[in-house]
Amino acid sequence: MTSPGLVSGRMPTLFVGHGTPMNAILDNEWTRAFKNLANEVPRPKAILSISGHFYTPGIYVTDNESPPTIHDFGGFPQALFDIEYRCPGSPDLAKRISGMLEGHAQLTDKWGLDHGTWSVLLHMFPEADIPVVQMSIDARVDPQIHVAIGQALAPLRDEGVLILGTGNITHNMRVGFWQQEGAVPEWSTTFDKLVADATQEHDAAELARLAQSEAGEAAHSGFDHYYPLLYVAGAANDDDAVSYPITGFDRFFSMRAVKFG
Ligand code: ZN
Repeated sequence: MTSPGLVSGRMPTLFVGHGTPMNAILDNEWTRAFKNLANEVPRPKAILSISGHFYTPGIYVTDNESPPTIHDFGGFPQALFDIEYRCPGSPDLAKRISGMLEGHAQLTDKWGLDHGTWSVLLHMFPEADIPVVQMSIDARVDPQIHVAIGQALAPLRDEGVLILGTGNITHNMRVGFWQQEGAVPEWSTTFDKLVADATQEHDAAELARLAQSEAGEAAHSGFDHYYPLLYVAGAANDDDAVSYPITGFDRFFSMRAVKFG
């Protein structure tokens, strides 16, 4: 057993800021914190991962028996391309998700696990023995819809499924890399604080609205890395405890993790 805790029961929902792909192979404060996340949740029967790197027109759910490890980046060391996270998939869970979304999602074996998922899970569950399904984010819809889809999937929590969102609360790639190293830009700290306040209040509608705000536009060059949080918040209840197992910034990335339940 990787973690103590219950095998079944109502699972928390969890958002993780994955940061640079290099976190897959580094030993730093973030990767040690990813390892520790396994102790923050009961051991799941399966994981539904919603990653900012699976951003598509329409909703797709992976139904591979053995999802391939996708190396969806360029210009990184060979060691990153050599990583294989050989966990099982779960065609049954994929079908169940597709059924819960009443025909709005399509099953696919044309994707597997992208680095948003495996760069975190290989620290959290290094044994790769928990089935993982990925669901894509529909790039065409309003932020409120992502919250609604999260709500629709909330019953999975009672079936031992960990709903995992993986992105970053601040992720302005267009501006961020031009900024001075060592200083966290104000657009990043400001938006991170707004999001922290809204999650504390269980205000998923406000989280959706923030994606359409000036502060949101300043903190993101696209909202693919923010939307996974909307699923995690959508699947939460008002009586879930809210906690932040990871906080802080890696350059302009907010590395905040959010747990409901
Ligand atoms: Zn990413």
